[in-house]
Amino acid sequence: MNDKESFIRENIEQRTERKILSEEIWRDNPVYTIINAYAETIILNECKDTKYEGNVRFFFLIDKQINALSMDIEGIRVICMTTGTVELVPYLVYEMRQCKNFFNDYGSDMNPDEIIKELISYIFLHIFLHECGHVFEGHIQYLNAIVLDAECLTYSRIDHIQNQISMDEKALEYAADLYGTMYLAQLFLTNSLSRREVLDKIRNIYAALIFLYLVLAVFSKDKGVDEVCVPITSRINEMLTRVLADATVFNIEVGDIQTILQEIYPAIAIALYRITKLKSEDLVDYKNKKFLREMEEIDNHWNEIKDKVLKFSIWED
Ligand SMILES: [Zn+2]
Repeated sequence: MNDKESFIRENIEQRTERKILSEEIWRDNPVYTIINAYAETIILNECKDTKYEGNVRFFFLIDKQINALSMDIEGIRVICMTTGTVELVPYLVYEMRQCKNFFNDYGSDMNPDEIIKELISYIFLHIFLHECGHVFEGHIQYLNAIVLDAECLTYSRIDHIQNQISMDEKALEYAADLYGTMYLAQLFLTNSLSRREVLDKIRNIYAALIFLYLVLAVFSKDKGVDEVCVPITSRINEMLTRVLADATVFNIEVGDIQTILQEIYPAIAIALYRITKLKSEDLVDYKNKKFLREMEEIDNHWNEIKDKVLKFSIWED
């Protein structure tokens, strides 16, 4: 290991007060290997031909909490995922297989095993892509520029569901979720799929996001979190609609999609109740007017700071 590599690793461990899981340990574990391969591929593709080529790194941290975080170490962008997050995979597969019947009336052409596999990969991709949003769209650099104590800045996903964060941070969390959802939507839209297949994918992205937030809510109870904001807002509806409208491979009406999305949401809420025995509204107050108002404020705030934030994105010179 060279000096620079040791410096980065020591710095990560110091700031997070966690140890990095060494590759020798995770190398033979297929779950870690797959997540790492996804992460490396996305980083490689996104950084290609930018000045950050080779300067974005991914690590697993030994921590039983479900979390992911990103930080800047003297120009090196680092994304970490905790071992607690990775170890959710077998648990999720088990829980989802227990209620295979649900997936039979899920309205999908895919078989239950395929759906489960896809939901799980979307959950992990979204956790990782959310951090990519912070890194690639300049969120960390923006905060570094306005926060004095920049040395200590790490950006943790769990902060997202805690209320004691500033409007700036809320707006960045929201933007990171949109980045992740957009990326997922574009992933499948680049392949030539039939209309039915696309609808299956949308349904699964929705289900995976809701599932992820339910999981975070359940596992964050000991952290005193009693409210969780789900990024499934009209804004994401609009975004998916826009992405689909731009896709030339489908002849799909925008109005159709909106109707379909409205129908899908309650179906998924019921499904999650059957799976988790938790009513989604117990955890996620998505119909709460106060919450919707707050989302609107966050959205407005994002529009105010957007230009300053995106100036730090990896695609700018
Ligand atoms: Zn975040």
